[in-house]
Amino acid sequence: MHPDSRGARPDAPDNRAVVLGAGVSGLAAGMVSGAQVFEAESIPGGLCASYYMRPGSAERHFGGAPRAGDYYRFEPGGGHWIFGGEPSTLEMIQDYAHCNRISRRSSVFLHGSNRYIPYPIQENLRYLGAEQATRALAEIRAGNASGRTMQEWLAARFGSSLGDLFFAPFHEAYTAGLYRAIAPQDGFKSPIDLLKIEQGAREGAEPTGYNISFLYPEAGLHALVSELARRATVHYGKRATKIDPEKREISFADGSAVDYRAVVSTLPLHQICALAGIEIDEPTDPYTSVLVLNIGARRGARCPDEHWVYTCGTDAGFHRVGFYSNVDSRFAPEIPGEPRVSIYVEKAYAGGTRLSPQDIAAYASSVIRELRSWEFIGEVDVVDPTWVEVGYTWSWPDSNWRSKAIDALESQGIFPTGRYGRWVFQGIAESIQAGLVAGENLRREVDPSAQS
Ligand SMILES: Cc1cc2nc3c(=O)[nH]c(=O)nc-3n(C[C@H](O)[C@H](O)[C@H](O)COP(=O)(O)OP(=O)(O)OC[C@H]3O[C@@H](n4cnc5c(N)ncnc54)[C@H](O)[C@@H]3O)c2cc1C
Repeated sequence: MHPDSRGARPDAPDNRAVVLGAGVSGLAAGMVSGAQVFEAESIPGGLCASYYMRPGSAERHFGGAPRAGDYYRFEPGGGHWIFGGEPSTLEMIQDYAHCNRISRRSSVFLHGSNRYIPYPIQENLRYLGAEQATRALAEIRAGNASGRTMQEWLAARFGSSLGDLFFAPFHEAYTAGLYRAIAPQDGFKSPIDLLKIEQGAREGAEPTGYNISFLYPEAGLHALVSELARRATVHYGKRATKIDPEKREISFADGSAVDYRAVVSTLPLHQICALAGIEIDEPTDPYTSVLVLNIGARRGARCPDEHWVYTCGTDAGFHRVGFYSNVDSRFAPEIPGEPRVSIYVEKAYAGGTRLSPQDIAAYASSVIRELRSWEFIGEVDVVDPTWVEVGYTWSWPDSNWRSKAIDALESQGIFPTGRYGRWVFQGIAESIQAGLVAGENLRREVDPSAQS
């Protein structure tokens, strides 16, 4: 049985080449391979989509702005700013959607003392006051890069002063407690450059990190995603439920099926293994889910101008608050004399957690209470949650699960790619890049005579 292929690109090969998932990596793979893309949802982009909500309404409008200035613009996974990526990929992104380049404004917010310390905190020790800065600096100088777990690694690098103040409680929330057991990961998010740290204890240092500046499409992320989708053949409402590697057949929730010779999968690695009945003789690496709460509200008197702040020890348990409308004012409606702010708030949960609608509503109320008490927001116009089932992927110390899973899948003609497919930290640009490479390989896999 074959799915309806009306609308397929004329140069698409037969459907023996398949892509699963129409997030940015699947769209990029579908675009260069010409393969058919099967997407569970009814819109492209996965986490990378923009949607609009009118103040006081609970309805999401996907696609372009219904009427600029009237609506809040949000994204399901919170603000998705395009950082990193190779020049050729960034050039392609900007060809598809006109983007602005924006310099990051981000801080650690210590809400107990109402202090902002520019990110990364270790390079701005002068904000802590002389005594605490001297102690923190001495601990960092005496530190080392040892540590089997993320908790041990952070403590060995940064010591107890910064650990107690920020690193420990922040990572507790950001990893939903996993940081005590998982391997150290993504060290670039907590950079350690002693010269800069020493300089930052005395005076301002040049900004550091993987996202010093970022791109964002003027017309919203949707503008980029729709350009990618336009160049691929995508079948929506096609949730893959089973893969039979013997018969080389993928079944979908709607009862249809497609046969394949090679598949690029952008689904989370543990999920695609389960669909294909592949078992690995090691514990599956863990992940965290993220509850993203989008809020549109009156701008509070103490709302910062940051693009996002990292925080810890909050009553509601969130670890990051982002301000879409501080990146681009078009994220909030224009209401003369009553400035609005468009916000996203992230809270992490151990993978496998299930929340009821009542739990989510209670959490939303506690977030609003807290943000109002900080005077970030006033009266609320819109609150809209999204549950991101697989948000952040982690590894157990010394785990080989990931590489074994990828090898086992590839031996069956299933090629995982993208952030969740390959279980790696990467942003939009790198996910697109990975999809382009996977798509090129897919094209050659099903047609070895294809030239690159
Ligand atoms: C909270 C959070 C914040 C982030 N912030 C940023 C940021 O600021 N900047 C940045 O560059 N990156 C950010 N990222 C990362 C970014 O979201 C990813 O790099 C990117 O979305 C990965 O795209 P993808 O196509 O690989 O995966 P996804 O977007 O997850 O796409 C996978 C697709 O597969 C579909 N699918 C799932 N199951 C099935 C099935 N069974 N059958 C068919 N289809 C299925 C899904 O619906 C989805 O469309 C963030 C991620 C999170 C979680």
